[in-house]
Amino acid sequence: MTKRLYYDSSEIHEFDSVVEAVTPPSPEQSRPAVILRETAFYPTSGGQVHDTGWLTFDGGGRGAERLRVAEVADAEDGRIVHYLEATAKLPPAGAAVHGSIDPERRREHMQQHTGQHVLSAAFIELYQMPTVSFHMADDYCSIDLATPAVSPAQIVGAEKRANEIVFENRPVRVRYVSRAEAEKLGLRKLPPAERDELRLIEVADFDLSACGGTHVGASGQIGSIILRKSERVRQGTRVEFVCGDRAVRLARRDYTALSEAAALFSAKLWDVPEQIRKGFEESKLLRKQRDDALDELAELMALAALHSQPETNGRKIVVRAFSDRDIGFAKLFAQKVTRAGTPAIALVASAVDPPGLIFAQTSSQIPAQTSGGAPGSAADMGALLKQVLSSVGGRGGGSRDFAQGGVPAGSNIKVERLLQQAAGTIGS
Ligand SMILES: [Zn+2]
Repeated sequence: MTKRLYYDSSEIHEFDSVVEAVTPPSPEQSRPAVILRETAFYPTSGGQVHDTGWLTFDGGGRGAERLRVAEVADAEDGRIVHYLEATAKLPPAGAAVHGSIDPERRREHMQQHTGQHVLSAAFIELYQMPTVSFHMADDYCSIDLATPAVSPAQIVGAEKRANEIVFENRPVRVRYVSRAEAEKLGLRKLPPAERDELRLIEVADFDLSACGGTHVGASGQIGSIILRKSERVRQGTRVEFVCGDRAVRLARRDYTALSEAAALFSAKLWDVPEQIRKGFEESKLLRKQRDDALDELAELMALAALHSQPETNGRKIVVRAFSDRDIGFAKLFAQKVTRAGTPAIALVASAVDPPGLIFAQTSSQIPAQTSGGAPGSAADMGALLKQVLSSVGGRGGGSRDFAQGGVPAGSNIKVERLLQQAAGTIGS
């Protein structure tokens, strides 16, 4: 088993050791691995993420060799495996090495981990909500609480209590006890029975739990604890939080984003939600006004077109290609033409990309003025559209009274020509 220097002190960042085993890269494991007699590197476990850092050894005539430790893992036999970034030269077994861990990363992890102890204890103390798991991601941490829901007031309450413990700067101590002793001490969480000796972490007069991780020496070093999102998960409720450096970084990021939003509105930070609400309301109103105006415009244009169009065979045929209005407006126009009370056929197109065609006729149900035959039922819009589009490779279709289609995007086909073709077919 590797001797774990971080058990005794999480302040050990530099250490000397001896290489016990070296595994060169293989097809299964692309990175070389080194096992040392003792190490201060923390392996990923108990929710806390591994350390990174350097191993230095004497490379003979080439001077000191520095190897980057990219990942550290716990092997099942109790040894700690240091995975290295691909490297040309590895130390032989028995070589003396000097290890140094990245202190900022370690400190940041200690803050999150100790903050988790305090936060979990606060949720127990105030609301009897036990923590069932802890997760440390790159930019936030989370605990899962065994409870179906946590209210916003409880989030604020637990955050306040946890920060009180931080501000009181209580000592955080490590001690070792037997399992029998631990059972009498009333730990917040007793680990599964694996070892006879347990490592206890005590936040003075507030929390006592068994843990193998690295922790700060006094609660003040956690820095602030900020609770963020909470959400329902399978095993209860997940609460996200950040501590120390991480809390500062995230607050800075939030502030920057909010400041940019506030500048766009020329408003104060805390007025941004109200400004956004107002913006939504305004754009909803404007959208409604625009739709109403387009509706009126389509109606007037339809009436003008019908007015200037002579009736043939008891119906009016309106042919119109829009070069500056989209297919939505073309459709609206066609509807207005065919629902104005006079039997009519609308052959309409929009040349705005993507170009499209609308063929519509007054519904056969509407009684037509008779002037021989059955006006308005002489054509099938769906069939007509298919016929016209088939000649140019377009797609579309519809019913007897209404059909819609498009010509291939980017083609040079003139929609006006297709309309004339359709008009000619009906007229003949
Ligand atoms: Zn811990």
